[in-house]
Amino acid sequence: MVCIPKHPRCPDCPLQGLCLAHRAGKECDLPIRLVKKKSPVEEITVVVVRHGDQWLVHRRPPKGLLASMWEFPNALGKGKEGIAAVRQLLAQKGLTLAADDQPVGSLKSVFSHKTWQMTVYEGCITQGKIGEEEDWQWIDCKDYASLPWAGPHGKITAMV
Ligand code: SF4
Repeated sequence: MVCIPKHPRCPDCPLQGLCLAHRAGKECDLPIRLVKKKSPVEEITVVVVRHGDQWLVHRRPPKGLLASMWEFPNALGKGKEGIAAVRQLLAQKGLTLAADDQPVGSLKSVFSHKTWQMTVYEGCITQGKIGEEEDWQWIDCKDYASLPWAGPHGKITAMV
């Protein structure tokens, strides 16, 4: 009722003698309101790659965001550009991806420092096999619940 931001009633204030802001003549400038920084939005294309009753999944690196958790193949980018980026990612593993043009859904995931805007497509592998790498695997769709999914990727299982 007395110490009001921007218009403090210092003459009526019983704390005037103790107040450092008043002494410094800064009573009208305080408190400083911090402008909340907008977190960056990353467009991410996810392709749920299916082979019969199996999905192709990837384990994220052991350090960083959602470390060592499992996700569907994905890459930065949107639309055709995003699908091309996922295709390129899988090509590095010797896999040829055929992805649908139309997305099956989208979802947003907000972290403390960034937001993922994810668009989800379906696809299949037309050529190639994954090797013995532990971080790329085919899993049975029915076992999805036991996999430690990387955040929003677990929700994608309900879309496809
Ligand atoms: S003297 Fe200090 S505490 Fe009192 S109203 Fe002014 S700014 Fe607020």
